[in-house]
Amino acid sequence: MKNWLTLEPDEVRLLNRHFTPGRGGAQVEFVTIHHMAMVGGLLECWRVWQDREASAHYTIDPRGRIGQAVWDRDTAWSNANAYSNARSISIEHSNSAGAAEDWPISPATLEEGAHLVAAICRFYKLGRPVSGKNVRFHNIESGGITSCPYHLRPGGKYHDTYMRRAQYWYDQRTKPAGTPAPTLKEDSIMERYVKDTKAQLTGSPNLGQYPGWDQLGGRTLVDAVAAIGAKLELDGFKDPKGAK
Ligand SMILES: [Zn+2]
Repeated sequence: MKNWLTLEPDEVRLLNRHFTPGRGGAQVEFVTIHHMAMVGGLLECWRVWQDREASAHYTIDPRGRIGQAVWDRDTAWSNANAYSNARSISIEHSNSAGAAEDWPISPATLEEGAHLVAAICRFYKLGRPVSGKNVRFHNIESGGITSCPYHLRPGGKYHDTYMRRAQYWYDQRTKPAGTPAPTLKEDSIMERYVKDTKAQLTGSPNLGQYPGWDQLGGRTLVDAVAAIGAKLELDGFKDPKGAK
């Protein structure tokens, strides 16, 4: 992905058929997850969609490279459900092998997919990714006419980890990067006040050190007050240094 914040994909190869321009007045409300049932990326999907009356917005190849075939503002034909399509951004995940291997998906594809889900949820203000709510699945959206996205479906072997990673990436993105929490900032200002005050009292800002001040004869402020009191013969005042 070139830019997660602006949803700029690695590559763009737009379809000129098999999608609907615009969204018919609907807003983006959720992401729909698919697997390709083949190994490929943007070009391979684009070719399939030239002939098949189908499309998706994003494709993720086995190395995690993200392509775009339909702009987000347009309606992809992905969910076998026009109402769902108009409200969805669809993501096609490549498999890393075929039926003989039971359609696995590579770690790179899963990770980039989860990250893309988080970035879309953030960009369109859909909230933290939640399975079945703002993250949906082709098999359910289609009313059960397909098993897609297979292992990524609820109950599938990739589903739970994928959702956790999407939530992880969403949480990363919604925190301001590299900025300490406000309470820590407050603490560090308070800490500086405390050290400054400690230095005034003892001659050192550091815990457990009481070197005193030169102008007080190497005494801390408390010891200096004691020395003055001793000199004035005030009851109970002792100069720790003079007593030696
Ligand atoms: Zn699908």
